[in-house]
Amino acid sequence: QAVFQSDIGTLLDQVGTGKESLSFMKRRIRRLAAQWASAARRLDDKLRNQWREQKRILVHVGFLTEESGDVFSPKVLKGGPLGEMVQWADILTVLHVLGHNLKISFSLKELHGFLGVPPGRGSCPLSGPLPFDLIYTDYHGLQQMKQHMGLSLRKHKCHIRVIDTFGTEPAYNHEEYATLHGYRTNWGYWNLHSQQYMTMFPHTPDNSFMGFVAEELNETERLHIQRNKVHNMAVVYGKDASMWKGKENFLAILNRYMEIHGTVYYEAQRPPEVPAFVKNHGLLPQQELQQLLRKAKLFIGFGFPYEGPAPLEAIANGCIFLQPKFNPPHSSLNHNFFRGKPTSRKVSSQHPYAEQYIGRPHVITIDFNNSEEFDATIREIMSINVEPFLPYEYTCEGMLERVHAYIHNQDFCSPEAPFPPINSSRTWLGSPPSPFILQSNSSFLTWASNGSSFTSWPPLSALRLLASLEGQSCVKACQSAGLICEPALYRFINIKEAFSALDFQCYGLESEMNHLFPAFSPEHAECSLQQEPLLFSCAGSSAKYQRLCPCRDYRVGQVALCSDCL
Ligand code: UDP
Repeated sequence: QAVFQSDIGTLLDQVGTGKESLSFMKRRIRRLAAQWASAARRLDDKLRNQWREQKRILVHVGFLTEESGDVFSPKVLKGGPLGEMVQWADILTVLHVLGHNLKISFSLKELHGFLGVPPGRGSCPLSGPLPFDLIYTDYHGLQQMKQHMGLSLRKHKCHIRVIDTFGTEPAYNHEEYATLHGYRTNWGYWNLHSQQYMTMFPHTPDNSFMGFVAEELNETERLHIQRNKVHNMAVVYGKDASMWKGKENFLAILNRYMEIHGTVYYEAQRPPEVPAFVKNHGLLPQQELQQLLRKAKLFIGFGFPYEGPAPLEAIANGCIFLQPKFNPPHSSLNHNFFRGKPTSRKVSSQHPYAEQYIGRPHVITIDFNNSEEFDATIREIMSINVEPFLPYEYTCEGMLERVHAYIHNQDFCSPEAPFPPINSSRTWLGSPPSPFILQSNSSFLTWASNGSSFTSWPPLSALRLLASLEGQSCVKACQSAGLICEPALYRFINIKEAFSALDFQCYGLESEMNHLFPAFSPEHAECSLQQEPLLFSCAGSSAKYQRLCPCRDYRVGQVALCSDCL
């Protein structure tokens, strides 16, 4: 039985000392401890003492190991990728607070010790069973485990979860398919289940959304912030001088109306290359950055970094986040930063989550090349009042709830029961086979499980079948119906009856490895099923196909969970 624990003493001891990255994480864990503790009490009440099995969990932070070069720790004081550090600190805390049996490794030596692999051997298969139910790691860690566990990694890989900031799409993950169809990158091709990859934002429903948390305010703090906002104070998003390069025009316009603050890292002898009118504070400790954001009215991004935590922190502290729209969108096809990343997701602005899930009045996304619009927006921002806002999924309670749901429901180890049931007649529309009831209402079709032996998470009852338009992905098709694509439910719609339920007349039916399938080709009236379950993919579109999409509803503020998912 896992019991919520609010004391973080043992967690801090496990994180250890000696590196700036670890100190950063420990400071964060300490600072947010009270917030985690009260969230845990609320979730405990909500789950009404639901029995939760205590899992044995290993967290191996590959990118911080010396063996992967640990290029990050020395950069922490210079503003290195603090976003990753924020997320790992929160992952460690969430697993600890949920009360699981946690082991943490930041080196190969520790990894070997925990896995029971004898030291000094190259590749050594694990002899016994895996001593963990779950292993959270990253791509570096995965590579290290492959080197040191050899073939036994394959046997145990269903227990692994990969923390993967920007996400991995199924077409890149499937080794053979990626190699044959030009989706091979340095990162993908692990043949994992796509939901074993866990992202920083809910980028693509093909992966699981892990997230992180931002600081929460109590009522007194909220009032205080609202009373003390300085309407002409702006903070620029970008802790490295390179992020300000070429932005002089915007800064000049902004400077007409507002006092501009920055937190750009610099060395004492060398002031950073930002205009003299900017009040640069240097890289601030997280807590001091929060204080600055509490006073500021505007937090402005100039296009980089992409998709970091700071805009959420700013919005949570009552700032308006102003950011550039990308037209055309940035992606691995046209931008260096994303090149080689295992995704072809189109990034529509600096922070698509802020744009799509939060939006006005907290988030304003405009074309920065239009100076008039830019100028008018700054003036608008100074005149409107907004309240601090934090989506539930980025609160401690939201993250605890989500990770709890994953731990207890996601299972990539048990073989999936065949679908449809082997003995069913498969003439569904006329006479739906027991134990399923088929209900059709115009464009939606609901399969309601009727006391069936199928265990599925999300439950089958959440499934809503939709067809995409030609050239539309399932991500977009579900979104435009106010739903979300749910890859775990693909196997239930990968059947010929799904085509007739959508009024597609199939002149031919084939089954192939193609990440766009199941799909209907209007030109040839051909229906195509998916042959390889690892290629079920919400992402991906083609003008040739109308894709079949398994959509589901989601909780307001907690997109990872359907209404019956807890
Ligand atoms: N941050 C900080 N001091 C600063 C600027 C940023 O502690 O002066 C923290 C900030 O609170 C955020 C983290 O750095 O949680 C990551 O920031 P960012 O969004 O820039 O993402 P990154 O590019 O580091 O992933």
